[in-house]
Amino acid sequence: TSFGFETVTESEKRERVAGVFSSVADSYDRMNDMMSLGVHRLWKDHYVSSLNPGYTPPGQAARPQHILDIAGGTGDIAFRHLHTAHVLNRNPDVRVTISDINPDMLEVGKKRSSILPASQQAALSFLQANAEDLTGKVADNSMDLYTVAFGIRNFSNMPAALQEAHRVLKPGGVFACLEFSKVGNALLDSVYKRWSFGAIPMIGHLVAGDRDSYQYLVESIENFPSQEDFRQLILDAGFGVAGQGYEDLTGGIAAIHRGIKP
Ligand code: SAM
Repeated sequence: TSFGFETVTESEKRERVAGVFSSVADSYDRMNDMMSLGVHRLWKDHYVSSLNPGYTPPGQAARPQHILDIAGGTGDIAFRHLHTAHVLNRNPDVRVTISDINPDMLEVGKKRSSILPASQQAALSFLQANAEDLTGKVADNSMDLYTVAFGIRNFSNMPAALQEAHRVLKPGGVFACLEFSKVGNALLDSVYKRWSFGAIPMIGHLVAGDRDSYQYLVESIENFPSQEDFRQLILDAGFGVAGQGYEDLTGGIAAIHRGIKP
């Protein structure tokens, strides 16, 4: 695993990631808006609406669903799942578990969830766990949908996390990942790199008083595999992918990958 120019071990990476998210937990939501100029909200909306949780095909009875939102942090994805399923798709039998390794991030998520309608709060649970090892915490073949947004690049062992995703999903269950990715267009890439390497650590310094954590976040994006390489990791974990297997957002600044457990 490489962080900039250094090479670090898995356990060093784990400790470092824990430190980063504990120190950014309180400023995390505000910083996301500033760093992405609000665009992360549009990506998250598109991600969840394209997964369409709780959807019932015409003429069928509504089915209960259990969604696991891994690295769920402060709840952005889980809250969207609940809104789409309960309100837009009128399916109250959709439950969401927010799981994260970091108790400080989960604590912010719990606080934020207090403004949700009571029925949505009742359908929400929190689980502190390492995505690379969910044994004893999430049963085999128990989940209908596994989501991970802007989380997997922080994992020390991505193949282990993908295997766990495969284990906990039911046959036919869907793995869906939203993550920063590689920009195809050279001009957009140079503008984006200037922004991320120049402005983001500076905003982190000025707004959150924490340049190093935001510097780490930018480097972790740089070190994440390309769309094609990540697709291969999903296949290696035993998932099937339809067609190209991913969708680029904003020219590849982010991408959505999907796999189906056979
Ligand atoms: N999904 C949320 C969102 O889109 O706003 C939060 C994303 S945040 C950038 C990344 C999250 O990954 C942090 O909350 C961090 O604690 C969590 N994380 C890092 N390593 C993890 C691991 N091994 N297992 C589970 N969560 C992890």
